[in-house]
Amino acid sequence: MSLLEAKRYEHQEAESRWSQFWEEQGIYQYDPDSTKPLFSVDTPPPYASAAHLHVGHAMSYSQAEILVRQKRMAGFNIFYPMGFDDNGLPTERYVENKYKINKQKITRPEFVALCMKETKLVTENYRQFWRMLGISVDWSLEYNTIGPKAVKVAQSSFLDLVKKGLARRKKDPIMWDISMQTALAQADIETIERNGLLNSVAFKSAEDEKELIIATTRPELIPACVALFCHPDDKRYQSLLGKNALTPIFKHSVPILADDTVDPEFGSGLMMVCTFGDPEDIAKWKKYKLDTRVIIDERGMANHFAGEFEGLHINKLREAVLARLKETGELKGQTQTLQRVSVAERSGTPVEYIPHLQWFISLMDHQNDFLNRADQLDWYPDYFQKRHDHWVEGLKWDWCISRQRFYGVPIPVWYCEDCAYTHFAEPHQLPLDPTTTGPGLERCPVCGSQAFRPEGDVFDTWMTSSLTPQINAGMTLNDDYTWAAERPGLFPMSVRVQGFEIIRTWTFYTLVKSHFHHQGLPWKDIVVSGWGLDKQGQKISKSKGNYEDPSDIVKNFSADALRYWSALGTLGNDLRYNEQEVKSGQKLLNKLYNSTRFLAQTVGDGYKHHWDNEALMPVDRWLLAANAKCVEQVTDFFEKYDYSNALRTVERFFWDSYCDNYLEMIKFRLWENPEQEKSYSDAQIQAGKAVAVEVLYSIVKLLAPVIPFVTEHLYQGFFKDQIEGEPVSIHIASWPKPSHEGWNQAQLKDGERVSEILSLIRKQKIEQKIGIATKVAQVTLNAPAEVLGACQDFQSEIASAVRAMELVLVEGPSLLCEVKGLE
Ligand SMILES: [Zn+2]
Repeated sequence: MSLLEAKRYEHQEAESRWSQFWEEQGIYQYDPDSTKPLFSVDTPPPYASAAHLHVGHAMSYSQAEILVRQKRMAGFNIFYPMGFDDNGLPTERYVENKYKINKQKITRPEFVALCMKETKLVTENYRQFWRMLGISVDWSLEYNTIGPKAVKVAQSSFLDLVKKGLARRKKDPIMWDISMQTALAQADIETIERNGLLNSVAFKSAEDEKELIIATTRPELIPACVALFCHPDDKRYQSLLGKNALTPIFKHSVPILADDTVDPEFGSGLMMVCTFGDPEDIAKWKKYKLDTRVIIDERGMANHFAGEFEGLHINKLREAVLARLKETGELKGQTQTLQRVSVAERSGTPVEYIPHLQWFISLMDHQNDFLNRADQLDWYPDYFQKRHDHWVEGLKWDWCISRQRFYGVPIPVWYCEDCAYTHFAEPHQLPLDPTTTGPGLERCPVCGSQAFRPEGDVFDTWMTSSLTPQINAGMTLNDDYTWAAERPGLFPMSVRVQGFEIIRTWTFYTLVKSHFHHQGLPWKDIVVSGWGLDKQGQKISKSKGNYEDPSDIVKNFSADALRYWSALGTLGNDLRYNEQEVKSGQKLLNKLYNSTRFLAQTVGDGYKHHWDNEALMPVDRWLLAANAKCVEQVTDFFEKYDYSNALRTVERFFWDSYCDNYLEMIKFRLWENPEQEKSYSDAQIQAGKAVAVEVLYSIVKLLAPVIPFVTEHLYQGFFKDQIEGEPVSIHIASWPKPSHEGWNQAQLKDGERVSEILSLIRKQKIEQKIGIATKVAQVTLNAPAEVLGACQDFQSEIASAVRAMELVLVEGPSLLCEVKGLE
């Protein structure tokens, strides 16, 4: 009883107690030998670079975790790991900023050591936060994306794709970030809109010096111009086709060609193609085998093609070229225009396109396969499949997987210095870093050279993250290029949980990898969450200053209350942080605590949990029926990963049916000296107690996935000792099943009618300015015969609930009630 001694539920003491208890008891441990069905969760490894966690993190991780807790109670053997993504650009940037690092002055091993040190600190913060929030992962399954196992899987994936002809190195124009000096993939890009100037510049026909006006937002690319294009049907330029034009300022000669992708309505109908302004330029450059005049290097500095502007940074080049165009009179006009610009998501720098030798994974020939895979997957909510498909349909590039960065998973390759031979590591050698391990070859098998150069690039971070199911299953590549698993049966996993903003990356790339490696899906289901927003509906970020420390919320209102707020958000939708809702959660905890405490005192120390069906009264049968219905609905919602409606349903049942109606109706039987003539048998009193205990226990279990701490507290403080054979924690107790024993549908209907009558009478009391809990002399109920029929069996219970000395039932055409107060 000691756990229920306090008059109030003390959440701080309880939450730290149960958190420790779960750990000591190993409640959340995955059991590889279990005979239960397996439920495995591919949960997002957060970047180990964000030092601060906000309520958005609390929201998305709680929402997924609630679903896992329910599955655990529903009898599944749970595989629920936690990973940390300490690989790649986010970590690298974080460390660079924190230590103000100059990459020229630090060695790669020194930098990597700093990254490792930093991520260790940050992951510890995360661990503490998840524990505080009650996230029920099995910490023994923790992985990180730069650890040897993850590196081995990522490198295995690469070798397998090379073997299959799906990964190769090619020199191609790629998207390039001049600030971070690395290649980018399409998924690293976002499009922004900004105001710009559309400049009309004058080219000249090489033949007759006639002016040819071109409208361009990027005049700095004039030195990179390699052709002019018009639409094949554009009459204005027919005579020029196949001839040449001279560029302004630079006066180099470019061909005039036609292509039906040119919009004759835009500007003058003539456009310049440069190497390279955008993917359209690249397409025409390839199709028409145009010249190459790339004017900038990897840092964005102009080269000799820029003539007098050589050495200028691309950011200054535009102004310089425009100034010169004005001087020469070749600038014919400027108009404001709204520009859509591709920028690197992480740095915000406009993307440049330069030819570069990079490693790519083929995507462009497989779009239909990817769409089919996505269609085989069960999406929750289902509309997110569209978002994935839209991304796949809009793909323009193969996946560039090499990055010119310090920190990441090394590409296990060496190159012969004297010929084109590329030497790949063998699967059994993995993981390895070619910059510290030799190729193990005496001579190049092609040219005999003894000089090898290791690949210094690293993989795109998604190269590893796209393999989290394989990392979880402990999969590696055998030397015969078959995959083996440390945990067979774990792949494919049951479910992926993640945020919607990484559908185009994490979901997509994971589907791609699973399709290419295993010709199947990586999971059966995918569950997608929205964003936690601030009170004003803005995305939370530290720089915006709208950041609220979730630890403070937990301290003030409890982790359960914060989880409760999370669960009010429907799956897939954004949710604003709302302190009122957190407080509502706290109210629920207190009400549960008080009800259980009250019940524990009422049933007394010698209580034995059983009832005799014969002794059940109509009101008991109704509650059992209503409870069965509630269990059924809540279970159905959970089957569809709809924790939100599950919570709303059980909460309503608890407040309305259980507390306001049932407990009030059995008050006279259990707690108060009957104020009426009616007396109850011992068996009836026992039945009332037992049904009250039975149903409250069911409610507490139904709420346990959402509010794990208080429900454990109540379980340990009361329910566990009442019911024989219950396990050590509520979180491994069995999920309630809808029981049909002791009631029938008619009793459910009658009870629901009576519940409506109760609200009617209470409303009447309020209208007559009588307190709901105030005793009254008489309540007269006018009602049609069928309603009266339902009330007949509940007469003394209704009187008990509305505190009436007497209840008079009168048949009448419509529902009316009259309340007479005490004299
Ligand atoms: Zn060679």
